[in-house]
Amino acid sequence: MKLYNTLTRRVEDFTPQDPKRVKMYTCGPTVYSFAHVGNFTSYVYWDLLVRTLQLNGWTVDRVLNITDVGHLTSDADDGEDKMEKGARREGKTVWEIAEMYMNDYLENFRALNLIEPTNICRATDFIEEDKKLVDVLDKKGMLYDTTDGLYYDTSKFPTYAEFAHLDLDHLKAGARVDFNSEKKNVSDFAVWKWIRDGEDHAMQWEYRGRMGYPGWHLECATIIHEKLGETIDIHTGGIDHIPVHHTNEIAELEGAFGKKMSNFWLHNNFITIDGEKISKSLGNVYDFRDLAEKGFSHLDYKMWVLQGHFQSERNFSFTDLAAAKQRLLNYRNFAALRWQKDATDLSSVKSAIIEQLNNNLNSAGAFAELDKVLTKNVPDDDFIKFLDQAFGLNIEETTPDISEELKQKIAERFEAKKARDFAKADALRDEIAKEGIVLLDGADGSIWQYA
Ligand code: AMP
Ligand code: ZN
Repeated sequence: MKLYNTLTRRVEDFTPQDPKRVKMYTCGPTVYSFAHVGNFTSYVYWDLLVRTLQLNGWTVDRVLNITDVGHLTSDADDGEDKMEKGARREGKTVWEIAEMYMNDYLENFRALNLIEPTNICRATDFIEEDKKLVDVLDKKGMLYDTTDGLYYDTSKFPTYAEFAHLDLDHLKAGARVDFNSEKKNVSDFAVWKWIRDGEDHAMQWEYRGRMGYPGWHLECATIIHEKLGETIDIHTGGIDHIPVHHTNEIAELEGAFGKKMSNFWLHNNFITIDGEKISKSLGNVYDFRDLAEKGFSHLDYKMWVLQGHFQSERNFSFTDLAAAKQRLLNYRNFAALRWQKDATDLSSVKSAIIEQLNNNLNSAGAFAELDKVLTKNVPDDDFIKFLDQAFGLNIEETTPDISEELKQKIAERFEAKKARDFAKADALRDEIAKEGIVLLDGADGSIWQYA
């Protein structure tokens, strides 16, 4: 299978180090507010990745973290703490905020029928391990202390700029001169922050006789090291993570242990809404409750995401979401044919779909293969199970057979229509419609479909 690897900026053949198992890590959410439709595109794309790896016969050992400890609104270790801000906004403690939004995230995760990772790790459960990693870096002489925290000296990690193709001279020229004058290089970052006199920070832990809390990037480095070990196969996240968060994760882990961190890095692009950036001030921060209010399910949204590609910048609109909802209904009605006609051989379609997915997760191409056979073919149960394995759209579960009684009514109505008893035929059609079923008449009977 081929994947675009951010590390090399090329589409490359993917094979895991262990011929049977793939070690994969995904940067998870900061749980300080409801996730919006942009945030979840990423988790849908990585679910497609997991499913494609599984179709290729690999077992996926996957870890996802939940950032439930505050980190700062700016990547540059200044600005406001997102979790503390969320807690203040809602008059709750940070712990309550974390619990509530983590549960909401996991509910959405399940409603989207995303394959459960092997481990879901909360950052606050790894504080002792964080400290150990800081100790390793410190022993190697990679850190220096400031009044604000322990900082990573990026000049000690000569390949620091490589991953993101950073132009450090340019960064230096653009840096604000007035902030953290104790930093030795503009790209240096906090691995551990100290609580300063008078500072109000709800989450804090004792370390080296003082109170403090981990820097943002540390939790991912620690969790990867603890749960997956050295050199994982695939690391995933949003493109916004490339220049700071992932660059710093690499500096921490490779700086500490001298081993390549991940062979593949996949990054999803951003979505806009009606052509605009998603932001509070534009009032377009739609979440799943907004979608439900407008009559769209989690799986309609998933269908919309899967029509696109993880590397493409995409625009979300309710018009396009309605089209995706219709497309999913078409697939369900294709599945409904298996209760009504003899199955045709679709093994070549199955191979064509796998081939498209193996081509850098081209789900749009995979659906195009499916569309080619929708009208003249009939799937069997195995083919529907295969579609669900590949895309996780719950097609099998949402396409049950109808009752014998309803089938009887459908036949009766067709006979009435043939006999030109239109009053009876229309009355029966209305009864059938109440069960959520519509009819397509052919020469020798009707095909029923879900409405
Ligand atoms: P946030 O908690 O707001 O930083 O968002 C968490 C992650 O969601 C970000 O790091 C991005 O990778 C992703 N994300 C945020 N906005 C978008 C968007 N408009 N489109 C796709 N992904 C997004
Ligand atoms: Zn991360």
